[in-house]
Amino acid sequence: MRILIHGGFFSESSQSKETKEKKQKALLNILDLGKSYLKNHSAIETVIYTATLLEDDPLFNAGTGSQIQSDGKIRMSAALMNGLDQKFSGVINVENVKNPIIIAQMLMKEEDRVLGGAGASQYAENAGLPFYSTETPERKQEFLAKKESSGTGTIGCVVLDSQGRLAAATSTGGKGFEIPGRISDSATIAGNYANEYCAISCTGVGEDIVSAGLATKIVTRVTDGMSLKDAFNKSFKEMQSHDGFAGAIGVTKNGDIYFQESHPNIVFAAFNGIENIVFS
Ligand code: ASP
Repeated sequence: MRILIHGGFFSESSQSKETKEKKQKALLNILDLGKSYLKNHSAIETVIYTATLLEDDPLFNAGTGSQIQSDGKIRMSAALMNGLDQKFSGVINVENVKNPIIIAQMLMKEEDRVLGGAGASQYAENAGLPFYSTETPERKQEFLAKKESSGTGTIGCVVLDSQGRLAAATSTGGKGFEIPGRISDSATIAGNYANEYCAISCTGVGEDIVSAGLATKIVTRVTDGMSLKDAFNKSFKEMQSHDGFAGAIGVTKNGDIYFQESHPNIVFAAFNGIENIVFS
């Protein structure tokens, strides 16, 4: 069993040591909860459960505490991928729901598995999800001051369960201050991808991640026989030509785990099968 989570990118300049430590602590707590859950649940169930915990923590830029867009609204995106049957589902720019990842979960059973904008919000309402404002006073204050965020980050989780199944989940409030209608990488196969060999979740500048096709590219390389480390290194090297700004976490069916970032700094935590590790 392996579980890796990330709390997204943050800019070093806007991140105090104290905030970083707070995030690392929060990640380790959530990692432990996810790890216990994984003992009796599948990879896909565990990524959903763990992603909801990360979405509910206002320290992270997903669900509660999501960043505000240029028109003052919050639009969130999330995706889920089950390595077992290679099914992807996602929700793009949904408003006023507590846990976007739960909508992605609901969409798994639909024929139309990726919904966006007003249709996504309507789907959530029809499914009985209550109206919920994910705005927090901190994000509002940053928005009113037209300030960069104090360092919130997207969230992600990849899991290998005891039966060798893999899954990935990623959820985001976006970059902050974006043009309404902008599409994040998080609910695309560039930001979140899994098959029976490998599962990847990315964070960083969505445009760079999409341009690199990052998650899918790493998974494809591992599927074709490259080691996880080499697949990460080659894919990140390719991003250097356009100074791509990204980070990712990954796990393979053999239990290899890896993370990489093009620029400091992402907060990650992982259970490598023996012990918890926190990277920074
Ligand atoms: N990748 C996200 C986006 O661009 C942001 C992030 O990872 O922090 O929407």
